[in-house]
Amino acid sequence: MKINGKTKVMGLIGHPVEHTLSPVIHNTIAECMGENMVYTAFPATEDTQAVLKGAFALGIQGMNVTVPYKSAVIPYLADIDNEAKIIGAVNTLVRTEDGFKGYNTDLKGLYRAITSEGIRLEKSRVIVIGAGGAARAAAFMCAFHGAESIVICNRTVEKAENIAREIQEKTQFGNIRAISIADWMSIKGEGYLVLQATKVGLYPDTEASPIEDEAFFEKAAVVYELIYTPQETKFMRLAKGKQIPAYNGLKMLLYQGVAAYEMWNRVQVPEEIVQKAYRALQEEL
Ligand code: NAP
Repeated sequence: MKINGKTKVMGLIGHPVEHTLSPVIHNTIAECMGENMVYTAFPATEDTQAVLKGAFALGIQGMNVTVPYKSAVIPYLADIDNEAKIIGAVNTLVRTEDGFKGYNTDLKGLYRAITSEGIRLEKSRVIVIGAGGAARAAAFMCAFHGAESIVICNRTVEKAENIAREIQEKTQFGNIRAISIADWMSIKGEGYLVLQATKVGLYPDTEASPIEDEAFFEKAAVVYELIYTPQETKFMRLAKGKQIPAYNGLKMLLYQGVAAYEMWNRVQVPEEIVQKAYRALQEEL
């Protein structure tokens, strides 16, 4: 990669950002595509308006946004994509004449990751485990893409109830309910798509699982785990022990990055380059 006076600078703003894998995705793709662009991490701690103003003033073309700015940036955007507005969270900024426009590529990334594994979301019955930011995006994605029903299970049931209520109000999706994780046995039937979106099992706490009882997996047809460190969580191992296919969240990370890259550079990244970026991510882990 040759950096010169014409190099476009992109990056991730947030705190902490030291462990991000996004530079691997974007710099691999840029190099393969011959794009004069560099992607780096900006450990930002200033107030949100100052951070956005600074990025715009310096001519930054595109940014990713992570904790603690994902919702905080919204009042300071020039424009916001409709999906991101409904979800209330932005992870990608694209420069426009008047300021940055906000998008949520986490949701697009998760959808593309799931469908790339051959999983159909339309008409599926879904169990979402968790009620944090990632679970919220996952539940909205299910509502947007024609799921038949959604059950949100969370340790703190009020947070799951809030997401369920919000989805009903904002999307008119009615077949959704919230329960405590401890009550998973109240879920009727089998054949569910299970989206694991809690932090439980994340490195270094790799011997933990949000549900330990193997009987839970009799309800599952397929498991998508949002965690990607470790590449196989205990939750995935338990699922596979019951012959249920289980995938980790690395492709979600990959595809949210690809979606951002494509918007910043107004290109479509060919599949072989996407796969190259995926291999680079796997090597980095
Ligand atoms: P978050 O907003 O902090 O939410 C954390 C979730 O984990 C909440 O539902 C929380 O339950 C639950 N939780 C934490 N400790 C728990 C415990 N001991 N027992 C039961 N539940 C527990 O985090 P987030 O941003 O949504 O991220 C969630 C996970 O998704 C993380 O592992 C993250 O790495 C992953 N993620 C992956 C991608 C990707 O691209 N693949 C993108 C985003 C996030 P309470 O509400 O009860 O506290």
